[in-house]
Amino acid sequence: MPSWDRRSAAAHRKARAAALRAQVVDAVAPSSPWWRERLATQGRTAEQVATPEGVAGLPAVGERDVCPDGDPAGAAALVLQTGEDGYALHAEGPRLRRALARRLTRPGAYAQVVEQDTRPTTFVWAGLSLQWPVASTRGDLDVVARAGARAWSVLGLGRGDVLVTALPARPSATSQALELAALGAGAPALAAGERADDVAEALWLLPATVLAAPADALAVLLDDLVDLGAPLGALRTALLLGWPSEAEREAVRDALERGGLEGVDVLGLHVPDGHRLPWAQCRASAGGPPQLHAHPDLELLQVVAPDSGETTDGAGELVLTQLGLRGSALLRWRTGDAVDGLEEGPCPSCGRTTWRPAGLRRAALVPVLALRGGLTPVDLRGVSGALAGRADVADWRVQVAQDRAGRDQLLVHVVPGPGADEGDVVVGVARDVRAAAGLLPTQVVVHAPGGLPGETGARLLVPA
Ligand SMILES: [Zn+2]
Repeated sequence: MPSWDRRSAAAHRKARAAALRAQVVDAVAPSSPWWRERLATQGRTAEQVATPEGVAGLPAVGERDVCPDGDPAGAAALVLQTGEDGYALHAEGPRLRRALARRLTRPGAYAQVVEQDTRPTTFVWAGLSLQWPVASTRGDLDVVARAGARAWSVLGLGRGDVLVTALPARPSATSQALELAALGAGAPALAAGERADDVAEALWLLPATVLAAPADALAVLLDDLVDLGAPLGALRTALLLGWPSEAEREAVRDALERGGLEGVDVLGLHVPDGHRLPWAQCRASAGGPPQLHAHPDLELLQVVAPDSGETTDGAGELVLTQLGLRGSALLRWRTGDAVDGLEEGPCPSCGRTTWRPAGLRRAALVPVLALRGGLTPVDLRGVSGALAGRADVADWRVQVAQDRAGRDQLLVHVVPGPGADEGDVVVGVARDVRAAAGLLPTQVVVHAPGGLPGETGARLLVPA
């Protein structure tokens, strides 16, 4: 059988369908309190949801759905919870047989297998407009390490590479994935922290071939390191974390040139928010349009219209369903990332047949806006959610604009429904936006029918 990244699209689909069924029927539906209740509210059974079409019928879910009042404690209900009895009922056949066989030969071993499969041992922080914890079991960390080893190979790195990362000390899925990727590849890695002095010190210790930092920070870091006289002669890869924009890539290329650093490829790596598996850019695409490789057998990717959450074939928000991960379980999860679409054919650069999110813009649906109160991440999906389906609003637009002082404004435009009182609509909309997105709009603007801004029919008007 061809390796994971060379199989046909049909083979990928078949493997995904089996993994999806196991994930939904055996793990998430019976053992995650949040999803159990969600499916019950939706009037759907695990069986109905356990196919790609079934998942697509579920409303997409984001952090505000799980933590509606902004309290991260809500995320605990995502975590699979099961004791020995529940495990026997719901574990997949081979795992259960393994556990039962061990119980025969070694008392206590069954409980060990159950615990290893379902007990969270490790937490990282996620969140775009609020911070919430993501739990992993020991088994999950194996999956993350496997995905990391794949990412390492997609990046064109080997055992001989040496990784220095410059990330904040707060544990994130990205820091966890990089650490496990290097471990899986048998390559040395040092998490130096985000301060340039500390990174320079790490570089004196380890001659890094790979320097990894957040996409919006690496260019400045390189300038600082050059100023500090840090040894960068071994550097072959500048790795931008969080899928970089073209401007961020260009800034890093400029910084490399200013520093006299030649022969360094600029590559990107991305862990979508809430997820734990790294997606990597293939090295073959370093010089051309960047190609981002996801995992065809460990995730189900779909795209939804950002204003309605409905499934679409074209551009929109990337939603994902994890396959094979326990701990915090995500089904049809809204990543906040915008994409132009999903590509499934062989990569034009490296030939791998994994699917590739095209034109990804990280956290585009939760932009950080410079509002009057300061820099604030604004969950535009929550703002839209507060407007969609209101009986007192006939139509609406959400617009990010700038005032004369250059500050961002969050404007909500509404056409009141027939018979609705304008004042009541404005108050009601403002209140519901605050409840759903954690902040008040700058202004709620009332329009007559036909007077809304924007021509394309898109309800989210966000500058590109
Ligand atoms: Zn490729």
